[in-house]
Amino acid sequence: MNNKEFRKHAHELVDWMADYLENIEQYPVKSQVAPKDIYNKLTDSAPQKPEEFKTIFDDFQKIIMPGITHWQHPSFFAYFPANTSPPSILGEMLTSTLAAQCMIWQTSPAAAELEEQVMIWLQRMLSLPKGWSGVIQDTASTATLAALLSAREKKTDYQINRYGFAQRKFRIYCSSETHSSIDKAVKIAGFGVENLVKIDVDSAFAMKPDELDKAISKDIENEYIPLCVIATLGTTSTTAVDPLENIGEICQKYNLWLHVDAAFAGSALVLDEMKWMIKGIESADSFVFNPHKWMFTNFDCSAYFVKDSEALVKTFEIMPEYLKTNEKETVKNYRDWGIPLGRRFRALKLWFVIRSYGVEGIQSKIRYHIELASDLEKKIKEHPQFELLAPRSLNLLCFRFVPNRQLNSEKLNELNQKILESLNASGKLFVTHTKLHGKYVLRMQIGQTEVNKTHVDSAWKLIQQTAKELNNHKKSS
Ligand SMILES: *Cc1c(COP(=O)(O)O)cnc(C)c1O
Repeated sequence: MNNKEFRKHAHELVDWMADYLENIEQYPVKSQVAPKDIYNKLTDSAPQKPEEFKTIFDDFQKIIMPGITHWQHPSFFAYFPANTSPPSILGEMLTSTLAAQCMIWQTSPAAAELEEQVMIWLQRMLSLPKGWSGVIQDTASTATLAALLSAREKKTDYQINRYGFAQRKFRIYCSSETHSSIDKAVKIAGFGVENLVKIDVDSAFAMKPDELDKAISKDIENEYIPLCVIATLGTTSTTAVDPLENIGEICQKYNLWLHVDAAFAGSALVLDEMKWMIKGIESADSFVFNPHKWMFTNFDCSAYFVKDSEALVKTFEIMPEYLKTNEKETVKNYRDWGIPLGRRFRALKLWFVIRSYGVEGIQSKIRYHIELASDLEKKIKEHPQFELLAPRSLNLLCFRFVPNRQLNSEKLNELNQKILESLNASGKLFVTHTKLHGKYVLRMQIGQTEVNKTHVDSAWKLIQQTAKELNNHKKSS
């Protein structure tokens, strides 16, 4: 493709992109295809001869689009938000045009220095402690792995990096509601998942600090080495918030690394009324949140903050001759701040987003999402046949339909699963589920960039209608 053709097609695509965003509500939210539908439409082998862009793009529309689940649809209430916004998309277009590898300062000084500055912006926006340092990672999973590796290396004076694991049995602690990325990081870091201790939660699904204390002291008696605690702000099932202050005190008492996983909920810290979540953050060692979830910045962009950046860098630093430069003392070489060597210029889209909305714009959108959830929470509570199964802390609701108290638990689970399947098959919205104490629960988050009251009202109406219909159908069959 020459530049003339590129220009022409780029203009066409921008028009397509704007049309897509404008008409997104006409698509079924959840892709309605069956397994292998898409695969079977793709050609068996790569084309030997060049193809026209028009042919490729036609296939994108014909073959690919039906297999897309529309995460930017305002009635996408599933999983977690992974929202984007026009300024983010524009920033990403420039990033892919420049296609710079931002591994060290000299491979793109602007990328390193912009990253340093936008991370300071975020640090202030979220009121994270002064003196911490930030770096953009691809995902929270990677950030958590980096935290565990730094904790491991700092504790052993960087000896495991040199000599590998001896027979030391380190213990990592998190709640039973923690995200699966913690299990994965524990496996990769070589601790063994048997050494990941899952602490019980209270009725609000938050970690019980006294259980944590007990588990640690029991492990010490049994000659394990407690290493790190992971506290979650906004768990995956219910967005429960672990009591950071109490957990922090315990970590200080035993001298443990405290990592805070706020991947989803962290964005809400831009609001003064949500800062209670990080009371006690000073005693933490690291913190991660994903602007690519709830801060209008498209995937991937995960913000990782550490108290001791030297420990992070000492954990990951490598210095082959061909990467040595003279600027080391004054500049940041982010290659040494995480796992991959190559790094995309992710700070650019974040800079576009924060400047384009302003801190106030971001605050008002997130506040509005929480209000929408709070309004729906009231309606669910008032409805005699629906019940909330977890307290709401942010923009996520966990509830189920209980048409009558006589139905046993299994029947209720079946009915609610049918409701969920029928809702998602309608294409009008997308919700997912979780299980809480064995109960099948509809899980609905309100966090897409352009979601408003109309979408939430229609969703609630459809949920009630579907529940009623399926229940009547059940009775008559
Ligand atoms: C989404 C999520 C993760 C994983 O995030 P990735 O960036 O996809 O790795 C981890 N922890 C929590 C609490 C999450 O919500």
